[in-house]
Amino acid sequence: MKAFLIDLTKCVGCHDCQIGCKDEHCDQAWMPYAEAQPEVGQFWMKVKQFERGHAPHVKVTYMPTMCNHCENAPCEAAAKNGAVYRREDGLVLIDPAKAKGQREIMDACPYHAIYWNDALNIPQKCTGCAHLLDGDHPISVPRCVDNCHVDVITFGEEAELDLEGTEVLHPEYGTKPRVFYRGLPKKFIAGTVFDPDAEEIIEGALVTATGDAGTFTATTDSWGDFWLRDLPDAEWTVTIEHGGKKKSVAVSTVSEDQGLGDVALC
Ligand code: SF4
Ligand code: SF4
Repeated sequence: MKAFLIDLTKCVGCHDCQIGCKDEHCDQAWMPYAEAQPEVGQFWMKVKQFERGHAPHVKVTYMPTMCNHCENAPCEAAAKNGAVYRREDGLVLIDPAKAKGQREIMDACPYHAIYWNDALNIPQKCTGCAHLLDGDHPISVPRCVDNCHVDVITFGEEAELDLEGTEVLHPEYGTKPRVFYRGLPKKFIAGTVFDPDAEEIIEGALVTATGDAGTFTATTDSWGDFWLRDLPDAEWTVTIEHGGKKKSVAVSTVSEDQGLGDVALC
C-alpha cells in the first residue's frame, strides 16, 4: 500500500507542488482516471499558509494539503454505483463517468478535498497522478512530488517510509488517512521579558508554563525573548522568575498561539 509523507519542517511555501498539479491536470483529461481540472476554482494540491501568534512573536507555517486517500473514505461510502473506488495501491479515485451528478460525493469529504465541476457536472479531486504511476511516463511519481525541489513530499510503499513521529490530519474523523505529516504545528507561547526600573530586557529569566497538560520551561535569551514551543491545546499559568522577582499570568492555547509582547517583571 502506498502513502504520502509530507515533511512540513522543510516546506518553504514556494507553491511549486500546487503549480505542478495545475500543469498536469488543467485542460488535460487523463481518462479514465480524471477529466480535466478547470483552470480556476480547484486546487487538488493546495498549499495553505498560517500566520501564528502576535507581532513581534509570529511564526508562519506552510501546509500542502490534498485528498488524504483515506482507508475509511466517507466519499466512497456516499457514492452510488461504485463511483468512488480504492485501488490496490491505496489511491482513492472518483470515476468521472459514474460520478456524474453525484454532489453527495463532494459533500461527504470532511477535509473539503473534493471540488464540483459545474461544466461537466462531476466531483473532482487529487488522483495521486495514477495516470503517471500506471503509464509509461518519464515521471513515475505524482507530479507534486516531482515538482518539489526540497523533497518535502514523498510517495512510496508505506513500509519503506519513515513514518515514526508523523501524524495525520484530524484522526478523530476515523477516516484513516494515507497522507502522513511530519512537523504539524503545535501551539506556542512567546514574549519578551524586561525590567521596567532598569529599562533593560532580562536575559536568563526562567519561564514555566504549568497546567493539566503538563509543565514546560524556557529561558529568556539575549534579546529577553522566550519561546515555549510544541504545547498542547490547554489552559496555562505562565510564571516568570528572575533575581528574586516573580510574575504569573493566565494564558490559553486552546484556540490560538500566544505572543504576549513585552512583559514587565517588577
Ligand atoms: Fe475521500 Fe476526502 Fe478522504 Fe480524499 S480526503 S479519500 S476525498 S474523504
Ligand atoms: Fe512546500 Fe515543496 Fe510545495 Fe514548495 S513545492 S510549497 S517546498 S511542498
